[in-house]
Amino acid sequence: MNHKTRKQAKNAGKTFFRAAATFLLLVGLASCKAQALDRSELVLGTICTVRILDGASNNAMNAAFARLSEIEAEMSANISGTVVAEINKNAGIKPVPCSAELRYLVKKAMEIYDASDGAFDPSIGALVKLWGIGFDNEHVPEDKDIKNALLLKGKENIIVDDKNGNIFLAKKGMELDLGAIAKGYAADQLADILGKYRVKAAIIDLGGNIKFVGKKPDKQSWKIGIQNPYDSRGARLGMAILEGGFSVVTSGIYERNFTAEDGSFYHHIFDPATGYPVRNGLVSVSIISKSSTDADGLATALFVLGKEKGIALADKLGVGAIFIDEDKKLFMNDFAKSCFLLEDRSFTEVNSQLVN
Ligand code: FAD
Ligand code: MG
Repeated sequence: MNHKTRKQAKNAGKTFFRAAATFLLLVGLASCKAQALDRSELVLGTICTVRILDGASNNAMNAAFARLSEIEAEMSANISGTVVAEINKNAGIKPVPCSAELRYLVKKAMEIYDASDGAFDPSIGALVKLWGIGFDNEHVPEDKDIKNALLLKGKENIIVDDKNGNIFLAKKGMELDLGAIAKGYAADQLADILGKYRVKAAIIDLGGNIKFVGKKPDKQSWKIGIQNPYDSRGARLGMAILEGGFSVVTSGIYERNFTAEDGSFYHHIFDPATGYPVRNGLVSVSIISKSSTDADGLATALFVLGKEKGIALADKLGVGAIFIDEDKKLFMNDFAKSCFLLEDRSFTEVNSQLVN
């Protein structure tokens, strides 16, 4: 079934607002306007923007957006006929031939599953579809249906066969969902492509999944505001100051969500252990890392893990992590502290030693 629906259009509208807001959050670009080239398109269910600041060419831009469409055609679980949709359709039936890059990304997702003890789980597609958050059918499912969907997951049921070039899902009805990692992968791919076209400075923004390419024309560091989750108007609570090559990815509950008739709030980041949206007091998690693939996967993983385990994993993997909770408290590991400046003093920075 093609899930590109009215609801998606509504989400795209919301997302467009957010993407526009993201650009408001890019700090210190006024001096870089001269040869800039911008393009925004709705791809991967979100607004994707590439802004080239130095070394711009239409060829580079065209190649970047062609690559995004290729990734969507291969990896979307929401559009019928993609390779991932075929893998899902053939779950429990037969392996489906696929590219080395899809096998790479699925293995990467499985690595994050292992690192996070299953908090990040690319095999929960059936559960994601059951809730339908962000789509026309979003609803609170019956508990028994959630339990049934949970029977259809498990990393051991994803069989990646590099020798024969295919992927097989062992249980009928199970579904792969790369929604929590594929935008990061796409950002890394776009950075490589822009480099091949000799782009010297660019910002890739895939629905708020940011990656910086090269050196800013004015030789200053890149600055990216982190969205204040309590202010939808693009206000920032602080900013990360980074060199080229870094990515900043945020997973939060303030974008894809719905409020049920009884007033309960449900969002799209699930605890694979319970089958319900995570409720751990967090509002958002931002990850800073050179790999946007890792940053995307880990932002979701650390959201599910919560701040104590999340900070330990971020330290182990050498990435920056910023947690914001519903009491407007901010928890950062040392990496994040070295490059993030809190500006909005209505948020309180809590020493991560006190987290435990
Ligand atoms: P993230 O935290 O990065 O990801 C959350 C998403 O990951 C959830 O929406 C769910 O899909 C999944 N997820 C939830 N919990 C977990 C968990 N514990 N472990 C692993 N995964 C989890 N949206 C549309 O509306 N229509 C489309 O046609 C569409 N096509 C897409 C095609 C591609 C290739 C990609 C990458 C995304 C597409 N999207 C589409 C968007 C997608 O459905 C998600 O909304 C989006 O990727 C979520 O990104 P995020 O950064 O907001 O959150
Ligand atoms: Mg993610």
